[in-house]
Amino acid sequence: TVKGNSNRSYAVYNDELHQVVLSEQQLTNSMEDALLQRQFEVYYQPVVDLKTGEVVSAEALVRWNHPEKGMVSPGFFIPFFEHNGFIIKLDAYIREEVCRNMLELRRRGLSSIPVSVNVSRLEFYDPNLCRSIIDLTERYRLKPGMMRLEITESAYTDNPQQLLAAMKELQSYGFQVLMDDFGSGYSSLNMLKDVPVDILKLDMKFLENQGISGRGPEILASLVRMAKKLGMRTIAEGIETKEQGEFLRSIGCEYGQGYYYARPMPADAFTGLLMARENVKG
Ligand code: C2E
Ligand code: MG
Ligand code: MG
Ligand code: MG
Repeated sequence: TVKGNSNRSYAVYNDELHQVVLSEQQLTNSMEDALLQRQFEVYYQPVVDLKTGEVVSAEALVRWNHPEKGMVSPGFFIPFFEHNGFIIKLDAYIREEVCRNMLELRRRGLSSIPVSVNVSRLEFYDPNLCRSIIDLTERYRLKPGMMRLEITESAYTDNPQQLLAAMKELQSYGFQVLMDDFGSGYSSLNMLKDVPVDILKLDMKFLENQGISGRGPEILASLVRMAKKLGMRTIAEGIETKEQGEFLRSIGCEYGQGYYYARPMPADAFTGLLMARENVKG
């Protein structure tokens, strides 16, 4: 197809991994309506303290509840929305949904836990990003510590000055910044020299085949050691087995996230989990 026309198509996978192909035109036509019709939903995946097993925070993950395709995972629509810029609107919407959910928790008298949101690298081109996040949390009377921001290495390679300035401003207000998928990119270590992240999320690629074999474990142990020296905490992503969780705890990794502990779940289920947690604590 000719450059600039809209015949490119994107493979989209729903939760049963059925592939559906939507053309760029179909996606473009449906995304604005989808936002208005509230087809985008926030799922929450718990993060646990590896020592105690207690749920200590969560990550917000978008799902597209598509009227014909069912629940669609973000891996395939996010790249497209980054390509056409719609991700900026979608992420702002997701952040507001997270605030709404937190307000609801407070109304029910539940003590909430910090929730991290994924911030697309594209958003760091927006000079109003910090202001809009600060304004949002103030409108919902949320403490800045309750909403954490997950950034990726690509945000740094794109635009290091802008990223550093934004991080500094957000951190001065009390927001914590997490580096997502750490180790999966091309400039990780170089970047850490300059970027004062609060929490490193260790990429799940270091854990293979549900086990802890090969070279991954030694790399993980080294990264955790380094993180401690640099004053950062670590969350291991993609823990699928008990053995992996125990290994990560044994090397001093503080937190874990993965199917072994819990899958991403709708807001209602997450509320239920927090209620149960409260009862356990008494
Ligand atoms: P991520 O931020 O690294 O999120 C973690 C992904 O790993 C999620 O995929 C989660 O469901 C998956 N995961 C969690 N535990 C396990 C496990 O034990 N095993 C395996 N195999 N996977 C696990 P998900 O929800 O499909 O999201 C994919 C990516 O899409 C996210 O990766 C993030 O980069 C992006 N994304 C998701 N929601 C948003 C959003 O609201 N805004 C933006 N900008 N990006 C988002
Ligand atoms: Mg993330
Ligand atoms: Mg990640
Ligand atoms: Mg990822």
